[in-house]
Amino acid sequence: MEIRYHDVVIVGAGLAGLRAAVELAGKHDVAVLSKLHPLRSHSGAAQGGVSAALGNAEEDSPLWHAYDTIKGSDYLADQYAVEVMCNDAPRAIIELEHLGVPFSRFDSGHIAQRPFGGHTRNFGEAPVRRTCYAADRTGHVCLHTLYEQALKQKVRFYDEFQVLDLCMSGDAVNGVVAVELKSRALVTFHARAVMFATGGYGKAWKTTSNAFANTGDGLGIVMRNGIPLEDMEFVQFHPTGLYQLGILITEAARGEGGILRNGSGERFMERYAPTIKDLAPRDIVSRSIYRELMEGRGAGPGKDHVLLDLTELSHEKIAEKLPEIESFAKIYLGVDPSESPIPVLPTCHYAMGGIPTDVNGRVTRDAGGTEVQGFWAAGEVACVSVHGANRLGSNSLLDLIVFGRRAGKDIAGFLKKSQGPLPLEADTSTRVRDLIDGLLGRNGGETVAEVRTALQRLMMDKVSVFRNEEGLAEAVRELRELRERAREVRVLDATMSFNSELLEAIELQYMVDYSATVAAAALKRRESRGAHSRDDYPRRDDENHLEHSLCFLEEDGSVTVSEKAVDLSLAASDPRFVPKERKY
Ligand SMILES: Cc1cc2nc3c(=O)[nH]c(=O)nc-3n(C[C@H](O)[C@H](O)[C@H](O)COP(=O)(O)OP(=O)(O)OC[C@H]3O[C@@H](n4cnc5c(N)ncnc54)[C@H](O)[C@@H]3O)c2cc1C
Repeated sequence: MEIRYHDVVIVGAGLAGLRAAVELAGKHDVAVLSKLHPLRSHSGAAQGGVSAALGNAEEDSPLWHAYDTIKGSDYLADQYAVEVMCNDAPRAIIELEHLGVPFSRFDSGHIAQRPFGGHTRNFGEAPVRRTCYAADRTGHVCLHTLYEQALKQKVRFYDEFQVLDLCMSGDAVNGVVAVELKSRALVTFHARAVMFATGGYGKAWKTTSNAFANTGDGLGIVMRNGIPLEDMEFVQFHPTGLYQLGILITEAARGEGGILRNGSGERFMERYAPTIKDLAPRDIVSRSIYRELMEGRGAGPGKDHVLLDLTELSHEKIAEKLPEIESFAKIYLGVDPSESPIPVLPTCHYAMGGIPTDVNGRVTRDAGGTEVQGFWAAGEVACVSVHGANRLGSNSLLDLIVFGRRAGKDIAGFLKKSQGPLPLEADTSTRVRDLIDGLLGRNGGETVAEVRTALQRLMMDKVSVFRNEEGLAEAVRELRELRERAREVRVLDATMSFNSELLEAIELQYMVDYSATVAAAALKRRESRGAHSRDDYPRRDDENHLEHSLCFLEEDGSVTVSEKAVDLSLAASDPRFVPKERKY
C-alpha cells in the first residue's frame, strides 16, 4: 500500500477546489486529487454567470444582494454567511478579472452584467443587472483561468485519482484513501489538512442538468465516517431543461429577454409573479410550469412541456450572448431559437444542502458547531449555508470563489499552528479493500445500471418538485431496499485499468445513501419552503420548521434527522430581513 504525504490534500478540481489551491499555492505543499481531468469538472459547464453588486450597469449594493439571497432562500440561509458572501462579491470578481478571466464587457470597458432570477434593486422593486458573465460560457473560462494559475504556481495534481474514504485519527481527519484509475492501485494520502470540494449530486434523478460525475461521492464518504449532512431535502429543479433531455438552457436566456409561454402562447409567469415575471426564483418558476401542465395548458401534442420563446431576440444577439444555448437547441432538438420557441421542462440542477461548514469552510459535526479537526469543505458539496431552501441563479459560482478562498486562507492559518500530521492508523485502506473485494467476488445479482435506473425513477417520481407524506414514506422504505440491492450488484469486469463498472458500483452506494437523507429529511419537514414543496403542507411553517436539518447515517442504514438553528443575525437589527411571506 503506497503512502504519500502532502501538507494539504484538496479533493475536487472544480472552481471551489481550485480557488482554495490557488490561495495556498506557492507557500504550502498542496495536492489536488480529482477523479476527472480538472477541466472536465462540472464547474466548466456553468453557463449564465456569477453575481456581484458591482453596479456597472445601474445602481446596486451588497445589501440588496443579501436581501435577495435571503428572500430567495425562503429565509433558511444563515444570514451572517450571506452577508460575508455578498460583501466579498465585488472584490472576488475583480480578483478573477486580474487572474485573467475574459469577462464580456460593456462598451465602456466595464465588466458586463445581466439580470438573473430573483436579483432585484432596492429590496424587490424590479430586476437588477447583477450577474457578470462571459457569453454563456462563464464557468468554462473561470475554470480554465484558475487551472492555469494553479499550474503556474506548481500545485501538484493527481488527475484520475478517485477518493473512496477518509483517514481518521479519533475524531480528526488526517488523510484520504484513493484509487488510481489507471492502475487500480490504492494510495493513502496522509495530510495535515483535507478539503472536500467534490461538487453536486444530481445524478440520483432521472432528468438532470448535471454531469455524469455528479454522484455525490463526498457526501457518501463523510456520512460513513459519522459526519452529518445539512438541509439535504432542498434540491433545486431548474425551470428550463431541454424537453426530454434535461440539458440546461441557462436562466440568462430569460435574463436577455426570453419568455416562458404555455400551450396557448400565454406568458403565464405574469400570473404567478406579477412584478418580476419570468425572472422569479427557480423554485417558483418550476412549480408554475408544473401547475400549467397539471391544469392542461401544456404545449405540444402531449401537452407535456412549455416553451421558452427567444424569437423576439435578434439572431445576432443570440449568437453573441447565448451561443452555447443556440447550438444545444439546434443540435439536440433541431430548433433554431431565433425562429421558434424551445420546448423545455424543469430539470434536477443543484443541491442546496451538503456537508455543514462554518464561514471559513471548517466542517462541523453537530448543531452546536463542533469542528472536525483537519477537515474543510466548500462548493456545492458543502452547506455554509448561503442558499437555504432555494439558491438564486449565479450565486453558486460566487459561493465557490468566496468560500473556496476563505477555506484556503483558514487552512493556511491552521498550518502555521499545527505541529505536524496526526499519525495514520495502521489499517487506513482495509475498509476500501473490503468494499472492492466484496463487489468483485460476487457472481449473481443485478447490474449497476438496473439498480441505478430504479433509484433515478424513484427519486424523480416521489422526491422531486411536488412531494407528499405517502410518497416520501414509500421512498424511505424503498431506499432501504435499494441500499441492499446496491450492495449486492454484480461487477463482471475484473480488469485493473479504468474499471468503470467497479467505480460506478461504488458511486451507486453513495447515491443511495445520500438519497436516503433527502427522502428522510423531506418526510420530516411538514411544510413547504423554497424548493421543498409538500402538497399536504402547502404553507411555510416558521413556528415549527425555521431550522436546518441534520441527517446522520446509522450503522443499520437508517437515517436520523435532527435540527440546527438558523442564523438570523441581520434580522436582529433590520426588520427587512425578518422572515415574511415571499412575494415577487
Ligand atoms: C449545466 C450547469 C450550469 C450551471 N450554470 C451556473 C451558472 O451560470 N452560475 C452559477 O452560479 N452556477 C451554475 N451552476 C452551478 C455550478 O456550476 C455548480 O454548483 C458548481 O460548478 C460546483 O462547483 P464545485 O467546485 O463545487 O464542484 P465541481 O465543479 O462539480 O467539481 C467537482 C470536482 O470533484 C471531483 N470529485 C468528485 N468526486 C470525487 C472523488 N470521489 N474523488 C476525487 N475527485 C472527486 C471531480 O473530479 C471534480 O473535479 C451550473 C450547474 C450546471 C450543472
